[in-house]
Amino acid sequence: MPFTNPGGQLKVLIDERQLQQRVRELGQQISRDYQGKHLHLICILKGACIFLADLVRHLPLDISLDFMAVSSYANSLHTSGEVKIVKDLDSTIQGRDVMIVEDILDTGLTLDYLTRSLRTRGPKSLTICTLLSKPSRRIKEVQAAYVGFEIPDEFVVGYGLDFAERYRNLPAISVMIEDA
Ligand code: 5GP
Repeated sequence: MPFTNPGGQLKVLIDERQLQQRVRELGQQISRDYQGKHLHLICILKGACIFLADLVRHLPLDISLDFMAVSSYANSLHTSGEVKIVKDLDSTIQGRDVMIVEDILDTGLTLDYLTRSLRTRGPKSLTICTLLSKPSRRIKEVQAAYVGFEIPDEFVVGYGLDFAERYRNLPAISVMIEDA
C-alpha cells in the first residue's frame, strides 16, 4: 500500500537504498574511529530514533545508549530558536566517549546548545553524528564529525523526521511541499 499525504505533496529526496548505503558507510567510519573504545551514543528524540536503530546495527563495537528529548518546531515549518530539554539523560556522561546522534542539523541552534550543555558534564570526548545537514541554514557554527547527507533548504520528512508528528514512518527522506 503506498504512503499517502492528504495535506500536501511529498517528493522523495533520498530513497531507502541510498539511506541504507550511507548509514552502513557511517557505521564503518565510526567503527574504525572508535575501535577498542566504549562508545556512549545519545539519541535525540524523536527524529533520530530510526537512524539510530539502523546505525547501531553497523557498529560492531562496545556501545551503550541513552536518549534525550528537546523541544524544537512545535508543529510549525519554521524554527523558533528555542531549545528546551524535555527529557534528560538517564546516566552520567562524565569521563565517557560520547556521540550525539541527531536527525538533522539545520540552523545549528539545537546542537550548539546541546553540545555546550553536555560539555559541562565532563565527557571524555563529545562528537556529533547527524544524518542530514542543511549548511545554507546555519546560524550557529557546529562541527559534526559524521554527516550522512548535505541537503538543500527544504523541509523534509520521513525516516524518523516528522511534520506535526506525522510521516516518521516513511521509509525514504521526502520533501514536503506545503499546499498553497
Ligand atoms: P536546528 O536547531 O539545527 O535549527 O534544528 C534542529 C531540529 O529542527 C531538528 O532536530 C529537527 O527536529 C528540526 N528540523 C530542522 N529541519 C527540519 C526539516 O527539514 N524537517 C523536519 N521534520 N525537522 C526539521
